[in-house]
Amino acid sequence: MPGFAPAPQSPASPDWAAIRQDFPILNQQIHGHPLVYLDNAATSQKPRSVLDALRKYYEFDNANVHRGIHELSNRATAAYEAARTRAAVFFNARTPDEIIFTRGTTEGVNLVARSWGEKFIGKGDGILITEMEHHSNLVPWQMLAAKTGARLHFLPVQGDGGLLDLSRLEEQLSGVKLLALTHISNSLGTVNPVAEICALARKHGVTTLVDAAQSAGHRPVDVQEIGCDFLVASSHKMCGPTGFGMLYGRGEILEQTPPFHGGGEMIVTVSYESSTWKSGAHKFEAGTPDMSGAVGFHAAMDYLDQIGRERIARHDQQLGEYAYEQLSGLSGIRLFGPALGRAGLVSFLLPDVHAHDLVMLADQRGVALRGGHHCNQPLMHKLGVESTARASFYFYNTTSEIDTLVEVLKDIRKFFAD
Ligand SMILES: *Cc1c(COP(=O)(O)O)cnc(C)c1O
Repeated sequence: MPGFAPAPQSPASPDWAAIRQDFPILNQQIHGHPLVYLDNAATSQKPRSVLDALRKYYEFDNANVHRGIHELSNRATAAYEAARTRAAVFFNARTPDEIIFTRGTTEGVNLVARSWGEKFIGKGDGILITEMEHHSNLVPWQMLAAKTGARLHFLPVQGDGGLLDLSRLEEQLSGVKLLALTHISNSLGTVNPVAEICALARKHGVTTLVDAAQSAGHRPVDVQEIGCDFLVASSHKMCGPTGFGMLYGRGEILEQTPPFHGGGEMIVTVSYESSTWKSGAHKFEAGTPDMSGAVGFHAAMDYLDQIGRERIARHDQQLGEYAYEQLSGLSGIRLFGPALGRAGLVSFLLPDVHAHDLVMLADQRGVALRGGHHCNQPLMHKLGVESTARASFYFYNTTSEIDTLVEVLKDIRKFFAD
């Protein structure tokens, strides 16, 4: 796909302080304090280049795609399809036809569960997921199991350390049709060895889906290297607009998968009685798509590759490990997830402080955290907690913001001790 190669990177380490200036939203006070945005696992902020691309699309190019013969429709169609080609390069799919645009990770999983799942999963078949899945990669499989009589199985998580117990993986794969797992846990910061796991699954003829919601914007994600059949991601967690995302599906599998929604854009011919539909990605994209979302997503992928995803990954890991280390200095703190090799997020609990109170008090000092079950209720239950507080980082965060977090937590602890 010539012309879509990532922009060349400067050899030196990037100027992170200058990069931070690309994000206008970060430059503000909250309750009289400089904003310290540490809720990036919920959604990332958007750089000016993405905001400009959205504005330019609506100011100059907006029209409906695929149907028009006029100039604006041609431009909108070209922009929408250019984003697909860009995503194919970004995720190293074999062809753009393997990239389906969705509303996000959640819709991607539901599409696979409904379209592929209802055709290929039957009574008694196993669906294997992990105990650390986001509700988005759990509830659709529960619904599919209820409908088809399939059985759900779980790869266990080993306590607060947050690593998957893979010792019985081979055994657990027997009788299983689908293995669906997250690349990076949004509540523990665990990075799962997805390539190894998918290779073993493939050996046993098991179809695989990887939830890349937490990884796609944070490190190189290469679908061929991972060797998965499906992979899902959300644009809004990778510097792009909300309500947009993508599903990668291996070509051979998409061919055998029936459409998801029926409607315009996905058909070839329609009579009152029946219809025929397009092949490739368009079969799964009924209705007018989110053209501006595609344009913004395209700009976001360009932006991430300009910085370099390897660099973002290293920076993330440094922030994650720095935070873990600084937070471990607080006496009595309970930290979740692995100490080393973690992603750029830390979940924790302070003794005798409810996570919601902690997050509310931190907000008063300008620090945006998240407190709750992080869409991981069964995992919280297993860890014996109701909720945790979570600080999650992105490349525009700094170690001095982590120092602020630690100071604020010390004050909160004092407040509760008094
Ligand atoms: C955020 C997240 C999801 C859901 O993404 P949406 O954008 O809300 O669809 C799924 N899995 C993980 C691991 C997540 O972090």
